[in-house]
Amino acid sequence: MESIFAYMERYDYENLFICQDRSVGLRAVIAIHDTTLGPATGGTRMWTYPSEMDAIEDALRLARGMTYKYAAAGVNLGGGKCVVIGDPRRESSEMLFRALGRFINRLGGIYITGEDVGTTLREMEYMRMETPYVVTLPAAWGGAGPIGGATAFGVVQGMKACAEATYESDSLEGRTVTVQGLGAVGSEVVPLLVKEGARVVVTDIDREKVEPITRRFSVATAHPDEIMRREADIFCPCALGGVINVETIPQFKVKIICGSANNQLREEQDGQKIEARGILYAPDYIVNAGGTIFDTDRLNPGGFNRERAMTNVSRIRETMSSLIRISREEGIPTHRAADLLAERRIEAVRKAKSLAARGDVRM
Ligand code: NAD
Repeated sequence: MESIFAYMERYDYENLFICQDRSVGLRAVIAIHDTTLGPATGGTRMWTYPSEMDAIEDALRLARGMTYKYAAAGVNLGGGKCVVIGDPRRESSEMLFRALGRFINRLGGIYITGEDVGTTLREMEYMRMETPYVVTLPAAWGGAGPIGGATAFGVVQGMKACAEATYESDSLEGRTVTVQGLGAVGSEVVPLLVKEGARVVVTDIDREKVEPITRRFSVATAHPDEIMRREADIFCPCALGGVINVETIPQFKVKIICGSANNQLREEQDGQKIEARGILYAPDYIVNAGGTIFDTDRLNPGGFNRERAMTNVSRIRETMSSLIRISREEGIPTHRAADLLAERRIEAVRKAKSLAARGDVRM
């Protein structure tokens, strides 16, 4: 990374906070990218970063990703992220996360946190003891509870938009869908696809995840090494990032890739390459936003409303259709169209806000 200020200027970041409390071994970074739409929101990640600069860069990069995710999903939140330097298995503690909660509290609500890699609902509870600015919480603490089902529902909505654009019918009946990963999201995608009448092929490197699914549903299985080469209509990655890359792109025998896995494109240019192969790629941060939309619904006036939350999740389908339209009209790959959609929304809100501010002055 170039200098911190140069990086922040390039992507127009607002703030970067460095938090230190040696009594509990806390070293954390909070990055605020853009609060045009609302308070910067994004999870707390705990990770053993090779250097402080790596931690700062990760916080900044992830915060910007959250701005785009909320903007494209039509959620009135900005992008932020917190990164704690440390090994979550050895260095996580109640006091460390309570100290972090106090730092977040000091920010007075410009940053709202949640779960991410290396943190669980337990750490969210610890932070909630010190600050109200924690969105992801167990249902008993007033949170929305598990979000995998909402993420899966959003993925299937995105898939239907892709099917409509590819086959001129949004029906998934009779379509073959390969599902990679049967964790919190994949295991919830399968029943939805089965209900739609799709022919489902599943895989997981963990055999214990496969068995309960094959016992409950009439689905085929594939070896984890084989799933991405399998002929199908739709590939649904719900495991790792980086699955779309120079090695896999020539191997895919599908028309659509639509799944929950984060950072599916290993390199930015893989988005162009996959499109050049005639495969419609549903940008990950668009179709996997269901859990986030569901989870943050409780920040609306009146608190969590399941029906409203799920209605908003179902809008992923319209969002996906709009960006396919933009991609086709403007001749750009879908991942660029997704960014454009987000940038246009932020710009529109910024303009509306500046008009409102001018109105204030006149009064
Ligand atoms: P999870 O850890 O519960 O499940 C992932 C599953 O993938 C595990 O069962 C694991 O054994 C399996 N897996 C790992 N490598 C594999 C491989 N090479 N081949 C086949 N299976 C493999 O995770 P999750 O919460 O279900 O999330 C899945 C993906 O979706 C992740 O990339 C996550 O970042 C992303 N995501 C999840 C949510 C959510 O609501 N949980 C929201 C947005 C994005």
